[in-house]
Amino acid sequence: MAVREEEADVVIVGGGPSGLAAATELRRLGAGRVIILDRDRQAGGIPRHCGHYPFGMREFHQMLRGPDYARRLAEQAQQAGVEIRTLCTVVKLHPGGLVEMTTPEGLARLRGKAVLLATGVRETSRAGRMIGGEKPGGILPTGALQGMVYLNGRRPFRRPVILGSELVSFSALLTCRHAGIRPLAMIEAGPRPVAYAPSRLLAMAMGVPFHANTRVEAILGRHRVEQVSLSGPKGTRVIETDGVIVTGGFRPEASLLTASHMDTDPRSGGPAIDQYGRLSDPAYFASGNVLRGVETAGWSWAEGKQVAHSIVASLDGKLAPREEALTIAIEGAIEGAPESAHDGDALKLVLPQVLVCGYRVMAAHRHLQLRLNRPARGRLILKQAGKVLTEKRIASRPERRILLALPEVFSVEDGELRLLFDEE
Ligand SMILES: Cc1cc2nc3c(=O)[nH]c(=O)nc-3n(C[C@H](O)[C@H](O)[C@H](O)COP(=O)(O)OP(=O)(O)OC[C@H]3O[C@@H](n4cnc5c(N)ncnc54)[C@H](O)[C@@H]3O)c2cc1C
Repeated sequence: MAVREEEADVVIVGGGPSGLAAATELRRLGAGRVIILDRDRQAGGIPRHCGHYPFGMREFHQMLRGPDYARRLAEQAQQAGVEIRTLCTVVKLHPGGLVEMTTPEGLARLRGKAVLLATGVRETSRAGRMIGGEKPGGILPTGALQGMVYLNGRRPFRRPVILGSELVSFSALLTCRHAGIRPLAMIEAGPRPVAYAPSRLLAMAMGVPFHANTRVEAILGRHRVEQVSLSGPKGTRVIETDGVIVTGGFRPEASLLTASHMDTDPRSGGPAIDQYGRLSDPAYFASGNVLRGVETAGWSWAEGKQVAHSIVASLDGKLAPREEALTIAIEGAIEGAPESAHDGDALKLVLPQVLVCGYRVMAAHRHLQLRLNRPARGRLILKQAGKVLTEKRIASRPERRILLALPEVFSVEDGELRLLFDEE
């Protein structure tokens, strides 16, 4: 049977905040036919499942609940003339901007002059975190918990334990409060909570004890969770509980990419991009959480908006060719480090991974974005041929956004770009 094939100016895979922002901006910039494909029933991405505040400050200068925020972004895109197609799962990326998808009507193909990947993240499973013990019911990642609570009105447990203390772990706390669930403890392998201070106050306000330097040895129970065994500064102990919320440990939703002809970044697990957000096949771009793991919705939205400008410049033939790119060589980084790494080299994530020479004009990224594996301080230095192009002193904790301004100009002839972290 012949597979249907259509054409568009820009195809966007993923209708979360980043894809919706990019689509709306593309239409505003006159990009022609812009189509969003999303595998979900409705566009909006993760915020659709987050029935809590705060979303929308950057975008609407207003504090919104996730579903209201998602709806407003989707409405904006539709009003701008974006075609949104839901229940369309992209299953293959072909060279030159041809994507293959499953739709309610069957297999179809869509060719874009440019394709933006805005597929977001997925959570690391319990197995991925190597937590031992039995496999009872009642172990949920944050996304599944939110789906049950906000979309289906269910309460999967009453006194769970929360593993992790990233920003998203506090979203799990808010979800618990909404559902009348009272968590017994928050468990963090590192010495301090990973999230910023204001979110930590929430745990205190809800009377949820925080256990630092503590690991889960095993989750126990026959049919449902009954106990977790913890090892911490005071030795091993067991908590009686009826559920476990496994939070954080997000990885880019990049399975499409890893099966494709394009380069990925072993550190982030996402695409390797240049400062335009462009991939090794220059018909493809990426923005939002697929680049690295979880950022705020506002940040992902802003990235989508910025990459729209790079895409339009690309369609107009105004971008420097990707062949003129230099990959940033990183000194002192460990590849694919787990989020729980608290020793070893500190640098975890650097993006863009590739810089095209000489241009900051029309760049979606004007900074290198970095993250650490563990708390560290020192000097970040970007060098070429022994010359410092840009540098910054930092003192940061894991999973925090660190920005280092991109150099205005550098030359391909001067050879390799080297990023060093001179740790104190
Ligand atoms: C539990 C949780 C709570 C959060 N709480 C907050 C908060 O309170 N405030 C805040 O600012 N931020 C919050 N965030 C962060 C925020 O949700 C994200 O930063 C934002 O949603 C990222 O947008 P995105 O467009 O990059 O990805 P997503 O929102 O993840 O959207 C990706 C979209 O791509 C689609 N997709 C993926 N693969 C395919 C495919 N193959 N084919 C078709 N479609 C596909 C998905 O269905 C999805 O709709 C939270 C995140 C999580 C996980």
